[in-house]
Amino acid sequence: MSFISDVVKYSRLAFNLRGFLSSTINVEESKQTVTAGLRNRERNLLNLVQKGIYQNPKSPYTKLLQMAGCEYGDMESLVNKEGIEATLKKLLAEGVYLSWEEFKGKKEVVRGGRHFQFRETDFDNPFLVSHFEASSSASRSAGTRVMMNLDRFSYQANHAAVAFAARGILGSPILLWMPILPSGAGLVAVLWAAKMSNLPRRWFSPVEARAIKPALAKRLATYYVVYASRLFGAAFPKPEYLSLEQAHKVTDCLAEILKEGRGCVLWTFANSAVRVCQAARERQLELSGVTFILGGEPLTPAKMKEIRAAGAKALNLYVAVEVGLIGFGCAGQTVASDDVHHCKDLHAVIQHRRETSPGGMSVDAFLFTSLLPKAPKILLNVESGDHGVIETRHCGCQLEELGLTDHIYSIRSFDKLTGEGMTFVGTDILRIIEEVLPVKFGGTSADYQMVEEEDEQGYTSLSLSVSPEVGAIDEGELIKTILSELRKGKDTQRMMAEIWSQAKMLRVKRQRPFVTAAGKLLPLHIQKRKTS
Ligand SMILES: [Zn+2]
Repeated sequence: MSFISDVVKYSRLAFNLRGFLSSTINVEESKQTVTAGLRNRERNLLNLVQKGIYQNPKSPYTKLLQMAGCEYGDMESLVNKEGIEATLKKLLAEGVYLSWEEFKGKKEVVRGGRHFQFRETDFDNPFLVSHFEASSSASRSAGTRVMMNLDRFSYQANHAAVAFAARGILGSPILLWMPILPSGAGLVAVLWAAKMSNLPRRWFSPVEARAIKPALAKRLATYYVVYASRLFGAAFPKPEYLSLEQAHKVTDCLAEILKEGRGCVLWTFANSAVRVCQAARERQLELSGVTFILGGEPLTPAKMKEIRAAGAKALNLYVAVEVGLIGFGCAGQTVASDDVHHCKDLHAVIQHRRETSPGGMSVDAFLFTSLLPKAPKILLNVESGDHGVIETRHCGCQLEELGLTDHIYSIRSFDKLTGEGMTFVGTDILRIIEEVLPVKFGGTSADYQMVEEEDEQGYTSLSLSVSPEVGAIDEGELIKTILSELRKGKDTQRMMAEIWSQAKMLRVKRQRPFVTAAGKLLPLHIQKRKTS
């Protein structure tokens, strides 16, 4: 990006930020906005498809739709007659969909004897004004750049307000421990909070500005927004660097705020929340009144257990960089730690069965379709790399009352980890890392991480990182434990345990788990292939 285009972009950002901050939302209006979005789903989809696909010769989907013999008129009558999801399923059956690999441009698209190759940027929404850019922290790829638009966050703030209201935390003081750009997570949280007239008290960032390698412009964008906000009468907190080892400082700040007797919302990643709970336990601080807002990492049962043991609650947020906001945690009867209400007004989702790798496990992968004109990418039956369960269920919470009746849970990604042609999907490896190992060898779930490495020849090796803080352990016993836990599972797991043990694939490394550029710690990590 050139210097001039940066200047243009940032002056536009400043101009639009003034508009963004000039109005705030109240929960009653937010409810009406979401209800209207749900009522207009069909119209919104048709509008986006007409302008973004049928009237856009550059759109990759035109080729797929042509092949399926689906003109705009056909799509319109199908949507009006049978609804969105039924239409999407018919399109899927006709080959109108993109796998995760095809969407990322890593695999050729072959449909009905024809071959296409797309790039991820082909799917960028051509109508979107980009105010700033964020990147995903995908561990296998270099990460995806996504355009961020203020109008989109303005609209999504309505969902946040409704979800906060359902938990009774709308006016509670907010504390943030989230990274600055290029991860958009922290800035988006601040923007939503500003719309809810409830700016965070402090913004701790686990990533230091000078540690971020990308262009200076992106590094400065966070500060630009912070200072611009002050000109427009809303004092965004200035990010303060606080590494993941300094959870006790967040806990101290929490303790101060809790003295006011209004509770506290701590917006962070699930792994950081576990660290805060640990620090609170060491200080004998009771965290009742604290609600963690968690996104970006899977909220696993083990993490939820640690949060509850500290007396705190958690509101889960399901976001994918390419898709945007997907769901907010259920406030009623949940069936899983990561049970969210799908924000159906933003996009549609259906599922299809696919293999995770040739001959690998099968999963019910999500396929997303954008409904709103501010979507960062125009998606039409595109896999997000995640799989899980979708169901319509009665839970009794306010989000259901609004009409957000579909739940998504047990969300896992299937593009993350494979070893020797076997895959971890559907295995117990997460449970072993998060529950079995800490109990048997000490530490918490944040002290263990499975790392897959590929060498120059593409051979895969697996290692288990164990934080030095855990102290002395019997490494042989550790490997034996993992293998014997895997052998308790299904055929595929037993086979995997066998291959690992025969190939002596698993090693133990005494090192801190790897943290991504966006400050996330994932239980499974892929070390990129060395290219030198
Ligand atoms: Zn609910």
